[in-house]
Amino acid sequence: MNTDLLLLICIPDSSIILFMEKKVKYIFVTGGVSSSLGKGIISASLAKLLQGRGFKVTIQKLDPYINIDPGTLNPYEHGECYVTDDGAETDLDLGHYERFSSTPTSQANNITTGRIYQNVINKERKGEYLGTTVQVIPHITDEIKRSIKILGETGNYDFVITEIGGTVGDIESFPFVETVRQMKWEHGDDCAVIHLTLVPFLKAAGELKTKPTQHSVKTMLEQGVQPDIIVCRTEYPLNEGIRRKIAQFCNVSVNSVIESIDADTIYDVPLLMREEKLDIEVYRNTRTKIPELLDLSNWERFVNRLKNPKSTVNIGLVGKYVELQDAYKSIKESFIHGGVENECKVNVIDIQSEKIKPGNAEELFGDLDGILVAPGFGGRGIDGKIESIKYARENNIPFLGICLGMQCAAIEFSRNVLGFEDAHTTEIDTNTSYPVIDLMEEQKNIKNMGGTMRLGAYDCKLDKDSKSYKVYQREMISERHRHRFEFNNAYRKNFEEAGMKIAGVNPDKDLVEIIELEGHPWFVGVQFHPEYKSNVKTPHPLFVGFVNAAIQNKNQP
Ligand code: GLN
Repeated sequence: MNTDLLLLICIPDSSIILFMEKKVKYIFVTGGVSSSLGKGIISASLAKLLQGRGFKVTIQKLDPYINIDPGTLNPYEHGECYVTDDGAETDLDLGHYERFSSTPTSQANNITTGRIYQNVINKERKGEYLGTTVQVIPHITDEIKRSIKILGETGNYDFVITEIGGTVGDIESFPFVETVRQMKWEHGDDCAVIHLTLVPFLKAAGELKTKPTQHSVKTMLEQGVQPDIIVCRTEYPLNEGIRRKIAQFCNVSVNSVIESIDADTIYDVPLLMREEKLDIEVYRNTRTKIPELLDLSNWERFVNRLKNPKSTVNIGLVGKYVELQDAYKSIKESFIHGGVENECKVNVIDIQSEKIKPGNAEELFGDLDGILVAPGFGGRGIDGKIESIKYARENNIPFLGICLGMQCAAIEFSRNVLGFEDAHTTEIDTNTSYPVIDLMEEQKNIKNMGGTMRLGAYDCKLDKDSKSYKVYQREMISERHRHRFEFNNAYRKNFEEAGMKIAGVNPDKDLVEIIELEGHPWFVGVQFHPEYKSNVKTPHPLFVGFVNAAIQNKNQP
């Protein structure tokens, strides 16, 4: 392939050996003018286009904030915390990367300023800098560079796409932009910079304005980086004149001015970027030979089904952060995947758990075809979650409980079926007489909050006679976790005898991972997070099964 470099090496017996060394291309995605322009979606869409021509791609996010990872940030600050197989608590953009590219990410795919400094300070304490003064340049920028190249040097990828969080010009972004400058200087044509900006429409003037883009590129130039490609987020199409103006003032070719118009769905963006030839510009700027075939047929089929559903269901999403757009991102995307698989549009109805009271369940849930109770931490809104599960159980409404949602299902069952009146999780009530959800022994002495939960992928063995087995179609599964508390095995027998099946168990630690109510059309609680593993190529079986149960529920006479 074109990214390979032929090396001729002479060895002493004078025979010549041909080595093929892969040359990795580094693509940086920076943002200007405003946050929330969709750098993550542009990065993921580019990855999709590169994959469509047979390249191997990974995407990484560098976040300029000082937290070591977003694990300790609340959803108001940072939206959802996404978890990888290796147990990294990461930025939600990694969810988009995986959902678009179907390639697993890991800790190496999300690095913060905090982690960079932590690594540098640890090295300094070990004496690795041999008495030198440790400085932002070169030590911090070298560490940033190291964490970019770590992915390139695995030999697994043709392209490493690195998204730089924040906006250029932010004080905290400076070392990252400086690292991009150095990478460009060191890697030349194997490196390209895509700058995403906003081209606003001024109603009073009746036109699109390029000045903010010009200023943002100037800010990059002041830091020594000339972007190669400018992606312009816009509400209206860019005409030829606007494209020329941006090209001329920002020093790029006209073809490298890419329109990123507001789309109906994020899943349209790879197709829009194909039309705009974003990938072609990347190949051109990195002197990569272009493989002829671009195959996005599976993606097109997905988008086509997404836009032409044959039915609709309403599923309630019960959580305490529903008013935040990004708090349950992966769950909402998983409903899209599970819906498409069933050729069904899932209307997700947000239900704030604090608003649910025993008296208003019928009013809130009466029109729903399914109820999902979301993951979460702490006691706020928990009574409403328990109440909604009671409604789903008693009215045969398909139910999926995720993590805290599953724990609430265990609490509801204990209180209302087993008669354990004050049953609770010890996360909320340490004095309960029935701690049906409790801390694991090994969690009891942990004092630090960051990275100390049960995190990442764990195996789970399914009961062959369960709804879960039916949807997964295999006995051993692996799913990602993010929690401290567990189902208390002391109550396992009580549950099973009363009709709550233990449908999945972690074989190594004998931990309950799935509970299912027998005699109910679809009542499944999972201790893990299936939403982290759903993607366009492989929609998650539990979401496919749950949406299917909701359709059946709706079609009942
Ligand atoms: N707060 C619960 C625990 O730590 C559930 C966490 C979650 O829903 N992710 O066990």
